[in-house]
Amino acid sequence: MSNEANAPHIEDIARVLGEDVDRDVIAHELDEYLNVYRVPLGTAKESIVKKHGGNPQALSASVFRKLSDLRPDESSVDLLVRVVSANPKTIEVDGKEKEIVYGILGDDTGTLQFTAWDSTRFPYQRGEVVRIVSAYTKGWNDSVQINLGDRAAVNREEDSSLPPPPTGAAAVVGGEVKVRDLRAGMRGLDITFRVLSVEARQVNVKGEEKTVWSGTLADETGKTEFSSWHDFELDSGDVVHLQGGYSRAWRGVPQLSFDSRDDLEKLEADVLPSLEELDVDSIVTIEDLERRGGAPSVAVQGIVIEVRDGSGLVFRCSECRRVVRKGTCSIHGQVESTPDMRVKGVVDDGTGSLSVIIGREITEDLLGKTLEACKALAQEAFDSEVIRDLLVDRLVARPVRVSGNVVSDDFGLMMIVRDVSDIHVDVKEEAAKILQELGVD
Ligand SMILES: [Zn+2]
Repeated sequence: MSNEANAPHIEDIARVLGEDVDRDVIAHELDEYLNVYRVPLGTAKESIVKKHGGNPQALSASVFRKLSDLRPDESSVDLLVRVVSANPKTIEVDGKEKEIVYGILGDDTGTLQFTAWDSTRFPYQRGEVVRIVSAYTKGWNDSVQINLGDRAAVNREEDSSLPPPPTGAAAVVGGEVKVRDLRAGMRGLDITFRVLSVEARQVNVKGEEKTVWSGTLADETGKTEFSSWHDFELDSGDVVHLQGGYSRAWRGVPQLSFDSRDDLEKLEADVLPSLEELDVDSIVTIEDLERRGGAPSVAVQGIVIEVRDGSGLVFRCSECRRVVRKGTCSIHGQVESTPDMRVKGVVDDGTGSLSVIIGREITEDLLGKTLEACKALAQEAFDSEVIRDLLVDRLVARPVRVSGNVVSDDFGLMMIVRDVSDIHVDVKEEAAKILQELGVD
């Protein structure tokens, strides 16, 4: 650890010792404990305070390191982190099977991959906040990996107010990941997925015609899109293991890219669930979407809490399709316009809220009225706002399941809705089902 990183701890010790001990002495002792005796930072601070007759309980500066400060080959690393993902895995060590846990840990500075070499000592789940003492780090493909070995102690932190890890380029990890855990900026991936669809396209890259094979892929945790810059002869349904590649974000949604330098191997088809089972919009929480910064093809179940201004019957500029106000486009001025229908709404699922954009066809279905019928209603009332009022009546407080792609921009997350359906929660039926499961008549 650098002197700069030690500075707050030197101040902390000096404060507890009532300024009786010179800072240079403290700095020297701390350096010796950490780098010569290799004891964890917390223990080092307590020892120095005790040695000079102070009360170690009065120490306050956090000894926890930030993930973005970690470098390869550090020992005695203490962390306060949120479990972003944790996956069990059986490996073979000296001919014996051993269960480990691998996944991703995060704090407010980023995320890193970790391996707990004994699964019984890491019973923690996605979302839990844990205190880790005496971890060590390794370098791996330009990124840092956290290891929890025999010396590591992990405890659950009851105060789970730790801020969520950032999304986007700040989050950099490498190694074995699931689709759900992909973040923009990851390199050197180790990932197994099933190709759901693939299509060859010609694109122009810096004046050169190239072929790109793009499509969608999935594992049991989610779906995303991919681009392959090499013909790996991928077919829909193939199960593939990729070693290498990188992920980049399109409007906040991480996508996978790989080319001829990466290692792609086709696996047995039964390693993952079938194409039909994987090609569904998995239900996610809005909190999870915020953590991921968006996702392709997901479903959210919640309540419509708002139908915003600009919903209902709108008129679009015939040049650029922007919505015109009082016959005027912000770019093209006074223009010809064509009518359209849409909903700009907000859905809340208890973990957060999400903006949704619903296009003409679904809006017509939701209202049970065509665009023509709505136009007639608006003309009769001399006010196109009547259509928005109808939508408010129909939608607000309605429990729905919305699915589509979730993108993010400066205004936050937004789902481009592909499907809306009602969710029916029949309380009596639910209760009967629970009683039946419990064996009560
Ligand atoms: Zn225009």
